Amino acid sequence: MIACQPMPPQNGCGNRTGSLAAMFHLIRTDSESRARLGRLMTSRGPVDTPAFMPVGTQATVKALDPRELREMGAKVILGNSYHLAIRPGLDVIRAAGGLHAFMGWTDPILTDSGGFQVFSLAKIRKVHMHGVEFRSHVDGALLFLGPREAMEIQRVLGSDIAMVFDECPAHNAPPKEQRLAVERTIRWAHECREQPRAPGQLVFGIVQGGADAQLREQCARAVVALDFDGYAIGGVSVGEPEPLMFAAIEATVPFLPENKVRYAMGLGTPAQIVELVARGVDLFDCVLPTRVARNGTAFTSKGTFAIKGGACKTQFGPIEDGCTCFACRHFSRAYIRHLLNVNEILGLRLVSIHNTHFYLQLMRDIRAHLAAGTFSSFRRDFVANYVPTRLVLESRADPRSTRKPSPNIPKPLRQVDLHRGCEKWPEPDPTDQADQADQTDHAGTAPEDRIT
Ligand SMILES: [Zn+2]
Repeated sequence: MIACQPMPPQNGCGNRTGSLAAMFHLIRTDSESRARLGRLMTSRGPVDTPAFMPVGTQATVKALDPRELREMGAKVILGNSYHLAIRPGLDVIRAAGGLHAFMGWTDPILTDSGGFQVFSLAKIRKVHMHGVEFRSHVDGALLFLGPREAMEIQRVLGSDIAMVFDECPAHNAPPKEQRLAVERTIRWAHECREQPRAPGQLVFGIVQGGADAQLREQCARAVVALDFDGYAIGGVSVGEPEPLMFAAIEATVPFLPENKVRYAMGLGTPAQIVELVARGVDLFDCVLPTRVARNGTAFTSKGTFAIKGGACKTQFGPIEDGCTCFACRHFSRAYIRHLLNVNEILGLRLVSIHNTHFYLQLMRDIRAHLAAGTFSSFRRDFVANYVPTRLVLESRADPRSTRKPSPNIPKPLRQVDLHRGCEKWPEPDPTDQADQADQTDHAGTAPEDRIT
């Protein structure tokens, strides 16, 4: 990227995958579902799966520092090629010694290729054979991003896991557009496969195909044939109702190899993650924990609730009984509610700590139950106790419905929507700079505040 012309082809410089058999260890498969207990090996250490990856789009997991992330057990976090290439720019990150050194995070990083952002955030001028010409959402500069550029950016960032450059259409895109997106995704996966990598960098392929089972199979077979280090399921968390999201996952997983890690991009709510684990997914990322925290919404094993509400005014217990996060060990709901209501930064930090810890603890619980052979009963109890938001319930009742919430849904409920795309529906507070930045975490539909 950062050039309006495609990079010249590089001949024969592909950095092929290494000893793949050792890259992902499948430790145990659940006897009553497709759930898997495993371990992904990266150059910066192992990642036990199923795992949740906190999202650090702009070289930071919003409101949390690396020490806090390590203490709550985060093993791998996300960064984003599109955003980091625009700001601060690759020259800065190269001079800093790579993304890890720049942001003070020494554990594994997975980087998004930028395809999702280009197709959702930027103003596209033209889609070429080898990439996309578009204008920056920040300053309107004319840029070009394709498989070669995306892999070069990720090479400079020095991420441990790089994602191929793909096309992620809207969930309700017409069939012809979905087919073209799959064709481009496959072609670009070939090109990504041939690009040089950072030392020890893994590269994951991405399967598109929307809700079309045949397209999913076609794309999965073609991408798996390229023998990537892992496989992601894209084209989910882009506005589709929950039943279609599960259908897309179920249409893809059977065509992914058992001996490679599987990553569902941008998903999901806690109950959805449990269900996706049961469908054979190993890796997850989602902006929900930190994003809804900034609106004062907390995750619990029974669903979400708004700490700002009057009910918490004199509640001097923790956000959730039994939670071992720093916020719950030291502060009460009443205190955090007060901080939020007077716009003190510590309030949103404490809720961010709790929410991110909640997701990471959920994954620890899932892994423990998989190891003990009790995952199925855990799954049943967790999903039965977790109260979904009204919007999730609506999308279950009518799977053809679009995700845009009806106007009469209270704002706090909208913001605890299905997954990364949903949380972009609420209009941002124009005075909240952090909120605006997060609007660009992932894809979705223009304008900028409808991104993920
Ligand atoms: Zn807590």
